[in-house]
Amino acid sequence: MIIAQQKPLPIVVEALGTHKDILLVGCRSCVAICLAGGEKEVGVLAEALRIHSQLKGKGWDIAEITLERACEREWAEQLALSVQDRDCIVSLACGVGAQVIQAMYPDVRVIPGLDTSNMGAPEEMGVFIEKCGGCGDCVLHLTGGICPVARCAKSLLNGPCGGSQNGKCEISAETPCAWDQIYHSLERLGRLDLMETPLPPKDWRPSRSGGPRKIVRKEYVMDVEERRQLEGTR
Ligand code: SF4
Ligand code: SF4
Repeated sequence: MIIAQQKPLPIVVEALGTHKDILLVGCRSCVAICLAGGEKEVGVLAEALRIHSQLKGKGWDIAEITLERACEREWAEQLALSVQDRDCIVSLACGVGAQVIQAMYPDVRVIPGLDTSNMGAPEEMGVFIEKCGGCGDCVLHLTGGICPVARCAKSLLNGPCGGSQNGKCEISAETPCAWDQIYHSLERLGRLDLMETPLPPKDWRPSRSGGPRKIVRKEYVMDVEERRQLEGTR
């Protein structure tokens, strides 16, 4: 899931500037699970902004709506009526959802109400930890199911650095060393041989360094020739 957290209220207030008719948009998916942008958080932020408006005489009119999944056009279409009388949207969806909403409603300014951080998982109530760096070339089968890209502070691919001490990473006594975890996971799996097998140079081309990535599921996309043939049979 995507992990995000709310921007501090003064930042959102400042970004609102002279806007008056404000629509708060939440999302019931990842950001609801990480307690940042679900229906409840939308309601709390709406009330905080209303109180601020009253105290400061801003005259804001604040409406709220929470989508099932803000990152999918099919769900974001539900905003069509709600945005009609609005001059601004505060998105409590992740950065993906905020961009989908802006693309679908280009005449209404979208202000991000969240800072989107990473792909992770809930560890315990209220604690979320990054798990995947989206490298595009997964090696979890070689590392005991523990991601060296996201969970090692240096993204090392072939064993720990010299800073690994007593199972902790040198960046913090509270941060587990990913390579210590990888070692123990491979030990449990009876695959310690993998610790001694160097990973080949990683193919970073599918990673972020190649610019925005695009995945095309060919089985769902007709190529030009197929389209021509279909049109020819009509
Ligand atoms: S190896 Fe790459 S794809 Fe696999 S979990 Fe780590 S960052 Fe994600
Ligand atoms: S101590 Fe472990 S997790 Fe930290 S940078 Fe070194 S190898 Fe990576």
